[in-house]
Amino acid sequence: MTLVVKVGGADGNAIAPVLDELAHRTDCVLVHGGSSEVDRLGEALGRPSEYYTSPSGVVSRRSDPAHLEVLVLALAGRVQTELVRGLLARGARAVGLSGVDGGLLRAKRKEGARAVIDGHVVRLHDDRSGSVEAVRAELLTVLLRSGYLPVVGPPAVTDAGEVVNVDADRAAARVAGALGAEALVLLTNVPGLLRDPDDPASRIPRIPRAEWETALAYAKGRMRKKLLAARDAVEAGVPRAVIGPSDRPDPVRKALDGEGTVIE
Ligand code: ADP
Repeated sequence: MTLVVKVGGADGNAIAPVLDELAHRTDCVLVHGGSSEVDRLGEALGRPSEYYTSPSGVVSRRSDPAHLEVLVLALAGRVQTELVRGLLARGARAVGLSGVDGGLLRAKRKEGARAVIDGHVVRLHDDRSGSVEAVRAELLTVLLRSGYLPVVGPPAVTDAGEVVNVDADRAAARVAGALGAEALVLLTNVPGLLRDPDDPASRIPRIPRAEWETALAYAKGRMRKKLLAARDAVEAGVPRAVIGPSDRPDPVRKALDGEGTVIE
């Protein structure tokens, strides 16, 4: 059985404990985002990141063509290379793949994403973002069977061959579903879903199906995407998804042991 682990890219995430742990496993796919690195590179290149909020309250990165260029450089370049390097240094046979490599992550481009700007809903026609519709799972299976540890991240590619930004949490959920993974572990910079985002002690340990809507109401901004990703995975047949902290030794095992928020 396979495990899909997604590591966050926002500040406050700890990467070393994740790499220490994964380097010793042979059953994992590592999925990454890298929002802080995209922001940093964007600043350095004079193209600062912009975010927008959808009418349903989900926060997304603006991905017009100029920002997409920065995103590809930061994620498929810096972030992925650094993760692969770190895993190789720990003895793992890591291989980096963006969603474009081998057509791994097939996305549908969002047509005119809706954003709330100054209280008005507007359509963003130049947005180059999408959602993952299909995963070429056999590419990952071939690598896993040969003892490689795939490291996967945005961007993705459309059927028309366009490169688009996709959300890494939701991409990880698709990967987990396509592989028939035993679990999806979303490691991040908070202890899990919190009742009060400012109180780390307010973690919600478990979200049964019946309490889904109540739980979603607690999640603000980008945490909503994580919860939606967890739900995508469970609906795709993955037995459980866990949102847990990355900043401790053996974060994956601890998340699987229930230190986080378990979605079943
Ligand atoms: P990552 O880069 O690790 O994927 P994100 O920044 O995308 O992390 O999402 C995690 C962030 O979601 C937290 O740092 C926190 O600021 C925010 N958040 C909003 N609502 C909640 C909540 N109810 N519980 C926990 N985190 C929350």
